[in-house]
Amino acid sequence: MDSVYKTAPTTTQISIPVLNYHSVTVQPGNTAAITPAKLEEQMQYLADQGYKTLTLKEFIDIWEGGEKPTAKVVLLTFDDGYKDNYTAALPILAKHNFRATLFISPGMVEDGYFLNWEEIKEMHKGGWDIQPHGMTHPNLTKLNAEKQTFEITEARRQIEEELGITADVYCYPFGERNQTTLHILKEHGFRYAFTIEQGMAKPDQNPLLIRRLFVNGEAGLSSFKSLLK
Ligand SMILES: [Zn+2]
Repeated sequence: MDSVYKTAPTTTQISIPVLNYHSVTVQPGNTAAITPAKLEEQMQYLADQGYKTLTLKEFIDIWEGGEKPTAKVVLLTFDDGYKDNYTAALPILAKHNFRATLFISPGMVEDGYFLNWEEIKEMHKGGWDIQPHGMTHPNLTKLNAEKQTFEITEARRQIEEELGITADVYCYPFGERNQTTLHILKEHGFRYAFTIEQGMAKPDQNPLLIRRLFVNGEAGLSSFKSLLK
């Protein structure tokens, strides 16, 4: 009976699941770690359901274009830059020709536990977007403006220098930020930033406070399916 009224603009209907992964390994008891077998099962599910995995540019184009995508879309994000993202996640995603975004802290690169630049470059060639997650994975709210600025801009500078890309999309370590952080991001031309607040990404959100969906590595496939709804 509402059909005589104008429908809401398409923008309000755009809702993109941004999945948030971390380590891809066998580590019982750690909900932030998912086993390679489970990740494979989830990627197979996405493929079977006809999902398109977005590049960051495609995600931003949808966000800015205001057109609801005709296909099912998802943005896969991996935080922190664990070595297993290269050894385990990269080949699993490559099997499906899937794209993903990796948020790294360059201060942890080359320490032997996290990805090194050679691996990061290979992932970039394999279709992964690489963006900053602070230099040393800091809780920014514990730092003064000067230190926050360094953590944010130096991470960006190193990624841009190593990969020859623009790295103006931030991801808050621990999801933590304050007004100073938002001010610094704006001042330095960051266009988007991802939080750990739970929910679908929708263009009516502040682009510096985009929501994501935490993938609980201990949960089963049915819980994964319900995340996407
Ligand atoms: Zn992190």
